[in-house]
Amino acid sequence: MEGIIEVRNLTKTFEDKNNKVEALKDINLSINKGDIFGIIGMSGAGKSTLVRCLNFLEKPTSGTVLVDGKDLSKLTAKELRNKRMDISMIFQHFNLLMQKNVLDNICFPLSIAGVNKKEARERALELLKIVGLEEKVGAYPSQLSGGQKQRVAIARALANNPKILLCDEATSALDPQTTKSILELLKRINENYGITIVIINPF
Ligand code: ADP
Repeated sequence: MEGIIEVRNLTKTFEDKNNKVEALKDINLSINKGDIFGIIGMSGAGKSTLVRCLNFLEKPTSGTVLVDGKDLSKLTAKELRNKRMDISMIFQHFNLLMQKNVLDNICFPLSIAGVNKKEARERALELLKIVGLEEKVGAYPSQLSGGQKQRVAIARALANNPKILLCDEATSALDPQTTKSILELLKRINENYGITIVIINPF
């Protein structure tokens, strides 16, 4: 069976006048739909580069990335933008919009996707329930703990019903107890919604 993500002979080389870094060298992997797939490695091993190649934020030097059977290198810019809606991402430092409250952070990707305000608001409230943060709907990111910020980021990442959630060191800034609760939430999301989850963590 072909995976929802197929990486074949992926190579990424960063090169300037004086330096050449082979960040990724002949990577092959297959991630099945509905999997929770972990990638671990030491600092500098190429984890971030790999995860950025999975949604083509970084263009591979050679090799192919297929998502749902589609070779990302063959897509037009518009097709790639649409495809990226299927591939959401969360980060170590959450990347929330500090000037917007929780509700507006979650509505943001919906408004970009053209969803009307009322519908976006309803969807955001539903997502807040899923991540267990209904009572923080009007709070600003600065008023939230790290774990709560990551819950908002997860809600935002799920807003457009992605098929894949990429988690780039998503728990690295959290204490062990909070890490556990975020991993439990990701597991529940995987089980309840069938979203394929890729977790990238340092050693
Ligand atoms: P990790 O996420 O595992 O810490 P990275 O993917 O960030 O590793 O980096 C892998 C290697 O590629 C490192 O040697 C890093 O210095 C290099 N690298 C990453 N991004 C760039 C870039 N934009 N330009 C040059 N070198 C880079």
